[in-house]
Amino acid sequence: MRALHRSIPITLSLLGLFLATPVLAQYEGAEPPPPRATAGWDAIDVKTCSAWLRRLASKQFEGRGTGQRGYQRAAEYMAKQFKDMGLEPCGDENSYFQHVPFARITMEPKKSFLRVGKRGTKLGIKDGVTFEFGHGEVKGPLLVLRANGRDAKLQDPSVLDGQVVLLVGRQLLRSPLRDQIDASKALAVLTVTQRASRTPSREATRLVMATDLRMRARVSEAAARRILSASKLDPTLADTPKPGSVESKASEELIRFTIGGSRKDILVPNVIGKLPGSDPKLRDEVVILGSHLDHLGKRDKTIYYGADDDGSGSTALLATVKAFTSNQTRPRRSVVFLAVCGEEMGLLGSRYYTDHPIFPIEKTVAELQMDMVGRNEHDPPKDYAKDNVDTIHLVGSKRLSMELHEIILDCNRHLKFRFEYDQESVYTRSDHYNFAKKGIPVSFIFSGFHPDYHQPTDTVDKINFAKIVSTARLFYLVAFRVADQERRIRVDSGPLATDGASRGAEEGR
Ligand SMILES: [Zn+2]
Repeated sequence: MRALHRSIPITLSLLGLFLATPVLAQYEGAEPPPPRATAGWDAIDVKTCSAWLRRLASKQFEGRGTGQRGYQRAAEYMAKQFKDMGLEPCGDENSYFQHVPFARITMEPKKSFLRVGKRGTKLGIKDGVTFEFGHGEVKGPLLVLRANGRDAKLQDPSVLDGQVVLLVGRQLLRSPLRDQIDASKALAVLTVTQRASRTPSREATRLVMATDLRMRARVSEAAARRILSASKLDPTLADTPKPGSVESKASEELIRFTIGGSRKDILVPNVIGKLPGSDPKLRDEVVILGSHLDHLGKRDKTIYYGADDDGSGSTALLATVKAFTSNQTRPRRSVVFLAVCGEEMGLLGSRYYTDHPIFPIEKTVAELQMDMVGRNEHDPPKDYAKDNVDTIHLVGSKRLSMELHEIILDCNRHLKFRFEYDQESVYTRSDHYNFAKKGIPVSFIFSGFHPDYHQPTDTVDKINFAKIVSTARLFYLVAFRVADQERRIRVDSGPLATDGASRGAEEGR
């Protein structure tokens, strides 16, 4: 699960409150599994799951940080499990990897400049420019956007393409305009801030998805006035446009934006495998089961093991692979297993997948995400671990397909999880969200927060393995049903449907 930018106040130390793991994976009152799924159901157990997770959350894999060697080791391990269990490769060059391009950039602010107009008015860090992001040099016409408020939006976002955008306005952080800029082909974005930045430009190395490498800087109002004058535009910044509106002004003058430093390109894999469907007419449709393989990795000498986040979901994913491949009876549609990178950096691996889908989006019937499924929620004073041995959160399933939601409830007859629905605020915080944005019905299963969330203490000894097994069994049944039923599940608007996905419950940006 990706972190919110503001930190979550988990301060209590509660060692010793973890309960002994119950032996049975189903809970009281559960019915036996449906006959067609029994072979797969029986193939999954606590022993196998604990062996997988002990490996995924081991010292050797160093917390699986995207771009770090521990992640690469974990990805190779996952791919080998996929292969050994009999999944078909469906990644790049018939491998189990979809390579996501990343760039490691080191910025040198002292070698970074803006140059404006024919006379080449030059501005650097001393002139109130904070170089935030990027590498190299771009040159293009200046487009000044003045906007006001969270509803600000351009009628035609294609005006941004090929421009160096100077953005002036208030409360734009979560506005549709910001999303339009992010999605555009603008060369660079300069954001005007009222005060000079408190965090000055400094040399820093950052890993970014190469497709996101747009140059960015913040400029003070004084610097913005100099840019506007040099571009032969009105340099006053006093009057703001009316709420929700955007005024744009183009300049003939070119602006050159240079960020000095170095760039190294690397590829980080998503791991992907396929179980082909049994029906030649339906097997080009897919149901995706997903987890994120990455965690926070090694920082200085500290390993963030990420046993629960999301070693548990990746273990459950392997368990669903085992269940499907152990059953002679296969569903009609294909089932795809996807463990992504870059989740903790902002859902990057899944965004790359949904922007570069291996199976067409319109053929993707549903995505079922397992992220943090191995703990008993402990978040006092609301929740205590002892009360949460058999609880799990169901998130997002009431938004895009009520039929999917009903299927999950029905499959739960065989598990008897106590579902909780009080964590809809995490809807935007794991990889399913990128699928939901494309209109694909999703369900996200999540066992809840605990004091070890995003701490080096998220270790394997605290895991409730029975819960991982139960999660895998539940989503195995759900994926089986969705992949096997005659008619594709309906996409509708559930009671929690939101328009578009970009804002709504968004808290983390
Ligand atoms: Zn996380």
